[in-house]
Amino acid sequence: MGPSGPDVGNMGKVIGIDLGTTNSCVAIVDHDGPRVIPSRTGQHTMPSVVAITESGKQLVGHLAKRQAITNPRNTIYGAKRLIGRRWDSRDVQKSISLVSFDMSKGPHDDVRLSMGGKEYAIPEISSLVLHEMRVVAEENLGESVGQAVITVPAYFNDNQRQATKDAGRIAGLDVLRIINEPTAAALAYGYGKGLEQKVAIYDLGGGTFDISILEIGQGVFEVLSTGGDTFLGGEDFDERIIAWLIEDFQGQHGIDLRQDKMAVQRLRDAAEKAKIELSSLNEVDINLPFIFSKGKGEALHLQKQLTRAALDGLVGDLIERTVAICEQALDDAGMKKSDIAAVILVGGMTRMPRVQRTVNDFFGIPPSKGVHPDEVVACGAAIQAHLLSTGSIDTLLLDVTPHHLGIMVAGGLFDVIIHKDTTIPTSATKVFTTVRDGQPQVRIMVLQGESSQAEENELLGEFVLDGLRAAPRGEVRVEVTFDITADGIVGVSAKDVETGREQTIMVTASSGLTEDEIREMAARNQDFLVKSDSAGGNDEVRQKVQNLLNEIDKFLPQARPIIDGTDFGVDALNKAEQTLERARHAMLQKDTKELSDCIKPLERTLSLLNNVIQKLGG
Ligand code: AMP
Repeated sequence: MGPSGPDVGNMGKVIGIDLGTTNSCVAIVDHDGPRVIPSRTGQHTMPSVVAITESGKQLVGHLAKRQAITNPRNTIYGAKRLIGRRWDSRDVQKSISLVSFDMSKGPHDDVRLSMGGKEYAIPEISSLVLHEMRVVAEENLGESVGQAVITVPAYFNDNQRQATKDAGRIAGLDVLRIINEPTAAALAYGYGKGLEQKVAIYDLGGGTFDISILEIGQGVFEVLSTGGDTFLGGEDFDERIIAWLIEDFQGQHGIDLRQDKMAVQRLRDAAEKAKIELSSLNEVDINLPFIFSKGKGEALHLQKQLTRAALDGLVGDLIERTVAICEQALDDAGMKKSDIAAVILVGGMTRMPRVQRTVNDFFGIPPSKGVHPDEVVACGAAIQAHLLSTGSIDTLLLDVTPHHLGIMVAGGLFDVIIHKDTTIPTSATKVFTTVRDGQPQVRIMVLQGESSQAEENELLGEFVLDGLRAAPRGEVRVEVTFDITADGIVGVSAKDVETGREQTIMVTASSGLTEDEIREMAARNQDFLVKSDSAGGNDEVRQKVQNLLNEIDKFLPQARPIIDGTDFGVDALNKAEQTLERARHAMLQKDTKELSDCIKPLERTLSLLNNVIQKLGG
């Protein structure tokens, strides 16, 4: 960190979390600056996947993802795509046929997901991921973690932000601030460097696309404009490959693999794997043996080759969609492409060569190297957490509202009160009058969106201001005030100017949960989570280490005489013995972190022994 950081010794308790659609990442600022905290399995990011096994065990992250193929109905991924959305929304309806788990309508027109025979609200699912991040951080830091900064796509509306905040609360975290992912990325890129430049953050992740144009100067990170699409990301790329495979299979065999959830899950895994491999290879083979069983032991297999060029063809229009959004964002910021000094890539999908080429061609400069696309957002969140918790004033984040905010007025029109791209926190007031003679009340429908037609925008909430004086239309005046906090969360009040009578809402119910429900889930989940932590992940790690130890014990007696006679023998045996010693000690100590750390060296030892026996033994 720069010289600013007073009292960094106290920083352990506030974490920054990038809660991603596909993967999540947690980071902290310590004496050396921001650093990512590895997951239980040692990786820097963790799949945002949760599951309940057949035996009722709750799994989160890699363990959950690993068993997704065999347990598709009880494995939930991509919850971020559904968070804060209404059941009837087009996007939710579109998801129903694409996911392998069951979805249903919740009591507040929200979405519920079924897992292990139980219904979960979306913030509850996200809270399981957040809780895991918290526990991982606590284990790593050796102290409790109570506060966090969580990131969301800049394009998230109020419902989605609120629901994310609720997820944090259910996970037992005091969410200090919700910040936009691109702002976090810019912070991680530019913090402490004394930069004076305009930058674009191009973020294409698993589920969402975001573009932000920021100006960095004298410690101020000011967002000038944002744009994005909450339904455009890597999963859409995967879906194109899946559709291509399914269509081909149907053409060949007349069988629709979509009907088989397990087959779809296998296709999804294979499609994603092929897509990722095509970032470094020119062609890949997709092999899915026994994808369809014809009964009586007969089965059909799927075998296809996909080239990088063919993939580019399948997804070209998706990438082009990001270009149109970039153009709009530049326009909104009143800028030309040549004004941009650096383009920072965020999100796993930006590793795709075609994406990088498109960004390069559009902005006319190669994307910035040196920031890690998977970690930069969490690191930025950690820096913001650090700044908030130390009260540091040398850096200022100026974010903006991603959508127009306003109310519905007569004729079903949308009257904007706070315009898109206004710097937050902010507030604004507008005065309206009654439209009917003797009108006793007004209904305030709070909307967010870009359309002039009220019904085409997102409804954030509604309330009634009653007790108005009976008067001819246009005489009673109602003052409507919008407040947006630094988290981007909206509060609305309506006041009868004459009487001072006032009604206020914090637009909270729209997160999909009531206050009581959130409290109840927080209490329930804490109990459940504490139990599942010790009964779940830790057990898996112990089991894995035990299996590796058993295998090594089996091979070592065979390998020892062979290795002894080689040049590298003494060294290799010593290392293997040390690793075994370390793992056995960790087993005795029940030290989960140490056990996790032993897995890789044990695997290496095992493969060394195997190699030795195969190559030298024969
Ligand atoms: P994120 O939400 O940032 O974790 O991004 C995850 C998305 O990036 C997923 O759709 C991944 O399949 C995709 N992804 C990760 N690595 C690569 C890669 N090397 N090439 C292409 N896509 C990738």
